[in-house]
Amino acid sequence: MGSLLHPPIPCDSGIPDYRGPGGLWRRDPEAEKLVTYEYYMRDPEIRRRSWQMRRKNRALRAEPNAAHRAIVDLERSGVPVRVITQNVDGLHQLAGLPARKVLELHGSARQFICTKCHARGPMEDALARLDAGEDDPPCLECGGILKSATVMFGQRLDPVVLAEAVAITKACQLFFAVGSSLQVQPAAGLAGIAADHGARLTVINAEPTPYDEIADEVVREPIGTALPRLLGSLGGHDGDQGDQGDQGD
Ligand code: ZN
Repeated sequence: MGSLLHPPIPCDSGIPDYRGPGGLWRRDPEAEKLVTYEYYMRDPEIRRRSWQMRRKNRALRAEPNAAHRAIVDLERSGVPVRVITQNVDGLHQLAGLPARKVLELHGSARQFICTKCHARGPMEDALARLDAGEDDPPCLECGGILKSATVMFGQRLDPVVLAEAVAITKACQLFFAVGSSLQVQPAAGLAGIAADHGARLTVINAEPTPYDEIADEVVREPIGTALPRLLGSLGGHDGDQGDQGDQGD
C-alpha cells in the first residue's frame, strides 16, 4: 500500500522512494546505511549524516494536494474513512484528517523516538537542537539514541498498527489501493484481504499491479484527478459506506 502520492523527496521511512529510478541509493549506495537500523545504532557518523538529511528534508517538505483534500472532504461528509499509508510525511493529518483516522504503517517522519525508552516528541524539537549545534542529540529522558519515528530497514512494522490495518481492511466495504505498485509485503497483501472479505477493490496506479486481475475497477489516471472524482461520488451518503483504506508506495 502506500499512500496517495509519492513524496517528491526521500523521507527517511525507507522503502520504495530510495530505490526507484533516480532514487537516492542509485546515486549514493552508502545512503542506504542512513536508514538501516543496525548501522544507525552502531555508528555515530551514520547518525550525524542521518540528522543532516532530516534537517535538509525539513526544508523540502511537500504540501497536501488535491488527493489529500478529497479524503478530508469525504470524511467531513459523514462517510467513515480510514487511511492506511506507507507514507511517513504526515500530509493526511496536515490536510485536516483526524490523526486517529490515519494508520501509518511505516511510522512518521514528523516525530522522533528514543530507541531505549521509546519517548517521542515532535521532530521539530530534535531539529531545533541541531540548529543549536548538537549533531547527534541524545534522549533528554534517558540519554538513549534518538531516531525519526519511522520504520528503518532491519526493523519490523509495529504489530499493533499492522493488526489494526488488517482488521479495518477485513471490515471495510470499499477499498482503494492508491498509488502503489502493491509489491511490498505485508502492506500490499491488504488489497487481497479486502477483496477476500467482500470489499469492492479499486486500484488507482499508473502501472499495472499484481492485484489488477481481482480488482473491481482499475484506474490509470493520475491520483490527483482520479481520487477527487471517485471519492466525490461517494460523499453525502449516510455513514453506510464502510471504511476505506488507501494505499500507495
Ligand atoms: Zn530515552
